Amino acid sequence: RRAEFEAVRNLPAVSQDGVPIGVMVNAGLAEDAEGLELIGADGIGLFRTEFQFLVSATLPGRDRQQRLYTKVLEAAGDRPVVFRTVDIGGDKALPYLTDIRDESENPAMGWRALRLSLERSTLMKAQARALIEAAAGKVLRVMFPMISEPWEYEEARKLFEEQVDWARKGHRKLPTRIEFGAMLEVPALAETLDQLLPRIDFLSIGTNDLTQFLFAADRADPRLAERYDWLSPAILRFLRRIAKQACEAGVPVRVCGEMGGRPLEAMALIGIGIQDFSITPAAVGPIKAMVRSLDVSKVRARMEQLLDRPPVNMRKTLGDWAKRHRL
Ligand code: PEP
Ligand code: MG
Repeated sequence: RRAEFEAVRNLPAVSQDGVPIGVMVNAGLAEDAEGLELIGADGIGLFRTEFQFLVSATLPGRDRQQRLYTKVLEAAGDRPVVFRTVDIGGDKALPYLTDIRDESENPAMGWRALRLSLERSTLMKAQARALIEAAAGKVLRVMFPMISEPWEYEEARKLFEEQVDWARKGHRKLPTRIEFGAMLEVPALAETLDQLLPRIDFLSIGTNDLTQFLFAADRADPRLAERYDWLSPAILRFLRRIAKQACEAGVPVRVCGEMGGRPLEAMALIGIGIQDFSITPAAVGPIKAMVRSLDVSKVRARMEQLLDRPPVNMRKTLGDWAKRHRL
């Protein structure tokens, strides 16, 4: 079906009943931003800024970061790019920052991402300045990883806004607008969404971490890889609640974990109210093909029934339904 996917890549992701679905891609290198048109992506929904840190022999300073972000924004042109602040720490060891090496027993639940960035604020400040300067005259979209409680978002945002003041005082050209987003990948955050939603411009669900924490199952352990299914009622009910709450608050919500890059999973996500995805570039063709053959109102109705009384094998039931509807 490869040729079919290539043909569909550059067609709009609109369902049979006219619902547009956002299809962006996950990226981490400047080169990733160059082929957006070719791969048929609406933009970069998750730019993992820690890649630069992971591949560098020395700590990338503000200038080097800024050069990368400028390149990415230029290559993306009019297409939006969502920069995620660094998710380092945990098991992502950096040879030049030995003091952040985490030898705790559960590094994924350790001192990583925003937890580390808020305490190592010089690191975060440099990144904020690099992003603000790179996006001068453009819209800057930034999101924070591993938020567990709303105050962490508030602190990160405050730190960013202080750097905007710094740039303003220095008479530097500013971004035309800054959109702030939160990643939902720690289950606890779902319980305080009511407090967070009025404060954010968008929500991005990181299903890789979210599911590992929901199931208490290490995402890197191959012995657990097949054990729990993304199509489990636990995950789908959880995500349905988040999608509904965000929608009611008028906050756009996107799924940026690997789950969204699989056609059956993406179909189920659309069925619970998700309309925006950021996926791996190779999945753009398959996801668009699925969307274009889908009737969103039908899959919504079907998912409601299935989540009210979950079948023994959700994957098989959904797969059969998809086949019958010629997906
Ligand atoms: C996620 O956790 O789903 C996510 C998108 O972030 P990462 O895979 O980089 O942890
Ligand atoms: Mg994550």
